[in-house]
Amino acid sequence: MEILTTLEGMRQSVQNEKRRGRTIGLVPTMGFLHAGHLSLVRISRAEADVTVVSLFVNPIQFGPKEDLKTYPRDFDRDAAMLRAEGADYLFAPTDEDMYPREYRTFVEVRELQDRLCGRTRPGHFRGVCTVVLKLFDLVEPDCAVFGQKDVQQALILKRMVADLNVPVRMIVAPIVREPDGLAMSSRNTYLNPEERQAALVLSRSLAEARAMIDAGERNAGRVLSRIRSLIDAELAARIEYVEAVDPDGLMPVAGLRDGTLIALAVFIGRTRLIDNLIVS
Ligand code: AMP
Repeated sequence: MEILTTLEGMRQSVQNEKRRGRTIGLVPTMGFLHAGHLSLVRISRAEADVTVVSLFVNPIQFGPKEDLKTYPRDFDRDAAMLRAEGADYLFAPTDEDMYPREYRTFVEVRELQDRLCGRTRPGHFRGVCTVVLKLFDLVEPDCAVFGQKDVQQALILKRMVADLNVPVRMIVAPIVREPDGLAMSSRNTYLNPEERQAALVLSRSLAEARAMIDAGERNAGRVLSRIRSLIDAELAARIEYVEAVDPDGLMPVAGLRDGTLIALAVFIGRTRLIDNLIVS
C-alpha cells in the first residue's frame, strides 16, 4: 500500500493506474478506523481494480462547538489496518493543501442539507459535499463506497452526484454493528463504560421498531412513539430527533412503506450518536 499526502501525488498515481486500464474505487473516511470502514474497503476491492482510501478529518464539516480538536486519530494504526485489508493507496492530504488561505468554493445540496442532522449541524453537509467533490475530482473514481450508518450523508451525496453529472457509481453499504448491536462509530470511543451500555438503546429501539413493522404496523406515529419511549426510559440518553422520512425529500411521513427511512440522533452523555433503519 502506498501512502500519499500530496494532491499532485494522488492525481499522478490514479492517472498512472487509469493508463494501465485499471478501475478505481474510493472510500472516503476520517480515520480511526473500525470494522465498518473495513467493510467499505472490501466492497471497493470487489468492485474496482484499485482501492484508494482517503483519511482526512475535514475541518469544514465540524461546527464551531463540535469535536474537531478531540476527534480520535491514530494514523499508524489506520495505515496498518488498511494495509492488512488490501487497500492500494492511503491518501492523507493536509488541511492547508485542501483548503489554502484563499479557498472560497463550497457545494450545497439545498433542502436535504437542512433536514434531520442538518437542523442542529448547520453547514455540516455543505462541508461533506465540498470535500467529497474535491476528492472525486482528485481521484476520479469509477465507484465510491459510503456507509448507511450516515444515511443522510449518502443520500445527499447521491443527489449531488446526479445534479452535477459526476461520473461515479455510488455504493451504499450496510451498517456494521458491534456484537451487542451498537452501530460502529469512531465516536464510540468517547463513551465511558456506563454510557457504552446506555448507548445500546439506539439499536434496541430500532430493533423493536423493526419487529413492529414486521408484525404489520404501518403507522409511523405509533412506531416513533415506541422508539421515543424506549429512549426516554434510558436516563443517560437525550433525544435530538427520531423521525420517519421519505428517502428522496427527507420529509416526515405518516405511513411507513418500503424505503421509508427511520432515523435518530441521540445524545448519550455528551456524545452524539446516530442510527437508522430502512423499512423493507
Ligand atoms: P467516517 O470516518 O465516520 O467519516 O466514515 C467514513 C465512512 O464509513 C462513511 O461512509 C460512513 O458512513 C462509513 N461508516 C462509518 N461507520 C460505519 C458502520 N458502522 N458501518 C458501515 N459503514 C460505516
